[in-house]
Amino acid sequence: MYTFDYQRPGQADAAVAVLTANGDAKYLAGGQSLLPTMRLRLAQPSALVDVTRIASMKDITVSGGTVTIGAAVCHARVASSADVKKALPGLADLAGRIGDRQVRERGTIGGSLANDDPAACYPAAVLALNATVVTDRRRIAADDFFLGMYETALQPDELITAVEFPLAERAGYEKFRNPASHFALVGVFVAKGVTGVRVAVTGAAASVFRPTELEAALSKDFSVAAARGVKISPDTLNEDMHASAEYRAHLIPVLAGRAIERANAF
Ligand SMILES: Cc1cc2nc3c(=O)[nH]c(=O)nc-3n(C[C@H](O)[C@H](O)[C@H](O)COP(=O)(O)OP(=O)(O)OC[C@H]3O[C@@H](n4cnc5c(N)ncnc54)[C@H](O)[C@@H]3O)c2cc1C
Repeated sequence: MYTFDYQRPGQADAAVAVLTANGDAKYLAGGQSLLPTMRLRLAQPSALVDVTRIASMKDITVSGGTVTIGAAVCHARVASSADVKKALPGLADLAGRIGDRQVRERGTIGGSLANDDPAACYPAAVLALNATVVTDRRRIAADDFFLGMYETALQPDELITAVEFPLAERAGYEKFRNPASHFALVGVFVAKGVTGVRVAVTGAAASVFRPTELEAALSKDFSVAAARGVKISPDTLNEDMHASAEYRAHLIPVLAGRAIERANAF
């Protein structure tokens, strides 16, 4: 590791001011992605601005049909929150299956979304539940947030402060996990809400996406059989040492069916 400045402000605007003044600085959440990247010298920020002590970014609230999770809330807190378990059990269930216990105690929802790993779990929930990413300066709809591999709509100094999830009638997630990291080889989140059915797939392509053919089928019939009846084209899917594009295409309807089973069981 090389030397860098470390700051730990108590307010969001103070954190943003540091990055606005220093384009070479980076926000630090749990460090689960950023610190390994720095160790590999793939990133060499001159300053790290720790956002995990900003009290306004550590709340979980349920009010008016919305679950709001502060960006600095770690996965373990989402998984164990009685409020989230009651209001959106599928989201708590997803958080409880991210990585291992250490990763869940350190990793945050804000860090996960800003990092936008193509195999991360939270982006699938954010997109399928039609959540809103709240930053220090604006509100970004899930459909506009994820732009590509490790690429989001965030400006370099923009700070995610919270994520707002509308409640769903039924919602669930299933992933075929990489046994070493628990990241999703393929993961599917299904959500049935007042505005219809939304489905989001992670791990299978450059970025999380909504499979329109699955959404159309599940809008008519929100069932395991309907999910399993959909055929997904492998044409734009990832192919790597872990799985072929055809295998990933096969997994998507299978996991969508299992996600429905999970959603029905809550
Ligand atoms: C072994 C291992 C297994 C894992 N398994 C899974 C898994 O199964 N599923 C899964 O989804 N994830 C998994 N992860 C990822 C992990 O859960 C974290 O969500 C992810 O690494 C981000 O970590 P972090 O919150 O500590 O952010 P950091 O590493 O601190 O930051 C990541 C990036 O986000 C930026 N950032 C952080 N907070 C903010 C903010 N509030 N606003 C704007 N930018 C911000 C940082 O500047 C940095 O660029 C795994 C990680 C590890 C190390």
